[in-house]
Amino acid sequence: MNDARIAALGEFTYGSGQAGEDMLFVTVGTGIGGGLVLDGRLRLGAIGAAGEIGHHTILPDGPPCSCGANGCLETLVSGPALARAGSALMMQGLAPRLSELTQGDPAKVTATLMASAALCGYQAVAAAIESAAKYLGIGIANAVSVTAVRRVVIGGGLSSLGEMLLEPVRRELLRRVRMFPAEFVTIRISALGEKCGALGGVALAAQQFDSNANPEFARTDQALA
Ligand SMILES: [Zn+2]
Repeated sequence: MNDARIAALGEFTYGSGQAGEDMLFVTVGTGIGGGLVLDGRLRLGAIGAAGEIGHHTILPDGPPCSCGANGCLETLVSGPALARAGSALMMQGLAPRLSELTQGDPAKVTATLMASAALCGYQAVAAAIESAAKYLGIGIANAVSVTAVRRVVIGGGLSSLGEMLLEPVRRELLRRVRMFPAEFVTIRISALGEKCGALGGVALAAQQFDSNANPEFARTDQALA
């Protein structure tokens, strides 16, 4: 498992997934990763890559991605993508608050500083965050349409944006998921925050221990598939 799948296991076992519902976990930080829980199990697939939401195409001719494709979700919404947008606004003179916060150094722009500038009323910065969040919403709506999960949990560094991120995501979900009642899909920020990866490791170790000690009741097989 990679870090995103481990984090999904942690969130499902100890955080927002404790209700046991099917869950899509999306971690948004330097890139986008994900993990998918269906029927009470974290689904890994044959090569362990199930739930890898960051590299599905949102814009066919969009920015080049590290994976070699173009317009992947994580090229449009991630910490670095948002920082690039903020730096561009600063260079255009559209975000004086960002200039103050970074002492005029575009390399110091972060998503957190952009959120601060947006809260101070700088509309161009708020629009950049909303645009990124909208792309995230489109990506999540696509995933929800395919998997029919009832719960989406967002973790990673950009989850600190809170409602600034969630509100456009909810809006896109309601707008684009039309084959079943999207209003029953809950979207929330990770309850575990930075701890979900470590607690996912704990959950995995506990399952392995249980499996070794009681092979006839191998809970690893129950939680992972
Ligand atoms: Zn990609």
